[in-house]
Amino acid sequence: FDMFVLAPLERLFRPTYKKDDIVLGKKLGEGSFGVVYKASLAKKSSKYNDLVLKKATEYGAVEIWMNERVRRACANSCADFLYGFLESSPKRGAEYWLLWKFEGESTLADLLQSKEFPYNVGSLTEYHSLLVTSNGNISSFEVVIDPGDHLLDATMLSVEALILGEVLDAPRGLERENRIIQTIMRQLLFALEGLHSTGIVHRDIKPQNVIFSEDSRTFKIIDLGAATDLRVGINYIPKEFLLDPRYAAPEQYIMSTQTPSAPSLPVATALSPVLWQLNLPDRFDIYSAGLIFLQMAFPALRSNSALIQFNRQLKRCEYDLTAWRKTVEPRASPDLRRGFELLDLDGGIGWELLMSMVRYKARKRISAKAALAHPYFDKEGQLALSFVQ
Ligand code: ADP
Ligand code: MG
Repeated sequence: FDMFVLAPLERLFRPTYKKDDIVLGKKLGEGSFGVVYKASLAKKSSKYNDLVLKKATEYGAVEIWMNERVRRACANSCADFLYGFLESSPKRGAEYWLLWKFEGESTLADLLQSKEFPYNVGSLTEYHSLLVTSNGNISSFEVVIDPGDHLLDATMLSVEALILGEVLDAPRGLERENRIIQTIMRQLLFALEGLHSTGIVHRDIKPQNVIFSEDSRTFKIIDLGAATDLRVGINYIPKEFLLDPRYAAPEQYIMSTQTPSAPSLPVATALSPVLWQLNLPDRFDIYSAGLIFLQMAFPALRSNSALIQFNRQLKRCEYDLTAWRKTVEPRASPDLRRGFELLDLDGGIGWELLMSMVRYKARKRISAKAALAHPYFDKEGQLALSFVQ
């Protein structure tokens, strides 16, 4: 099984790495399919000082394949992938080693755990039309960060750093919270749109697999270990036990009739776009992203147990969010009520988006692309950086 058969020439010209090039650091995570470490290169590299290394078992091959594909097709959606290779040792047997750039310390799960959320990311993502008081003067800044904008040179960054301290003091409130959550959702949907238009369904979208990239100051997706590429037929894990039940859509697994039961090379019988259209497998991720939206809006639903209870309640309501709202709202805690208030801002446009993501039937769920065009995101300026004083 050689997954490199299809690798493009591009890969040949990239730096390659082997075991001895890599120095292991602290363990970042351990799942049933591999261990993840912080790492660095034995030889100093200016670009990649901090790395992440995953030693993966049998699913590593496809995770390398997925990362290679993302690298070429939608690089900004996911963590920056460097290289992957097969490492065999007499003691541990065959392991796949995967290397990424270390994107940052915090996943969205870490950030959500804090009582400060969303203000703990607000200072990094929210810069729109703020009145800032400095030295007794009132100055008006309009700064919108474009993650892909290379105009962000050192000078501008330092100006930005200067005003950050002030921005942090901007009045807190539902509006501001909503704006931060909006920014995060837009970035998450943007990343998903990239994957989906490439033909990849992630299948394990959850806050733990969304990382805040400190360099680009955007959220990116990680962990393609359960991903499937339906257009070339790599879709080898029909095992629904891989899916996280807390975030999985009710259909549980995707296109099971088409899935081979063992890892295999991409088969020539690529699924046609027509089939993709019929089955809308991408909407599985949309459901999970909807639950992330829900948890961001409702502090009361952020804990594991609360999410599990929510899932149970929603199931009892036959996955009808409106029905769920009717049952819980009358006796809602102030905490829960705050979530409804946030989603009800601007004529309930946030609630409307949430409802179009969290639906029982995949085909009724909005696509990532359509979600990005949803009026919920209208209010914010986009993709331009301006600095007005
Ligand atoms: P697992 O299969 O164990 O879930 P992940 O790929 O999700 O593996 O990685 C586990 C953890 O390691 C993540 O939750 C995150 O905290 C950290 N991590 C993974 N990739 C990166 C990265 N590129 N940059 C920073 N941290 C990362
Ligand atoms: Mg993970």
